[in-house]
Amino acid sequence: MHSSTSAGGRGGDFLLLTVTMNPDALLLLETVHFSAEKHRDQRRKDADQTPYINHPIGVARILSHEGGVTDIEVLQAALLHDTVEDTDTTHAELETKFGSAVAHIVQEVTDDKNLPKQERKRLQVEHAAHCSRQAKLVKLADKLYNLRDLNRCTPVGWTAERVQEYFDWSSEVVNGLRGTSSVLEEKLDELFTHRRVSTT
Ligand code: NDP
Ligand code: ZN
Repeated sequence: MHSSTSAGGRGGDFLLLTVTMNPDALLLLETVHFSAEKHRDQRRKDADQTPYINHPIGVARILSHEGGVTDIEVLQAALLHDTVEDTDTTHAELETKFGSAVAHIVQEVTDDKNLPKQERKRLQVEHAAHCSRQAKLVKLADKLYNLRDLNRCTPVGWTAERVQEYFDWSSEVVNGLRGTSSVLEEKLDELFTHRRVSTT
């Protein structure tokens, strides 16, 4: 953040600070605010019913802090990655508000909810290798976050077998995403090895 000189009084300081703030920081704040509003009534599937927004923020943080990603479009797409799939947000809305590049990445990581669940899961495996590098990064971080979440605590109503199935399927998706981020792929592989899931 750039420093700002006083324009007199606290209000003046705040205004100047906002004006002189790093544009990427402002963009990320705007994006996280939009995502939080959209996911405001949703909860994760863990017993504590963690607010859903923790997930997209965590996915973006994995990319920046663990993956070393600085591409602002990827970080924005990570914050928005479940808005179209899980809320009333439309592709056009994202395009208008955040531009076509960010909207396109989100579209690439969005399942078609009109399809049955098994078919959606099959298509994720099939499509993984054909995504853009930006979308692959979001997908890797999304899987890493969800697998860590499953290790942290089992969602309500899930059997150990279902958790294991989720690890098996995630490994198939990740195989299509390889060659994108060695750091994130290694972290995923550690989880797969721990679960005795075969990787290629
Ligand atoms: P879901 O798609 O219902 O749930 C997984 C998704 O939930 C994740 O990808 C994640 O998506 C989101 N999520 C929310 N909270 C958590 C959390 N705390 N930890 C991890 N993920 C979380 O389940 P499945 O992927 O298993 O898909 C359903 C399939 O499971 C069906 O196809 C069915 O055949 C099968 N099934 C198997 C059963 C069994 O006992 N073996 C029983 C019932 C169904 P996001 O990133 O979008 O938030
Ligand atoms: Zn997600």
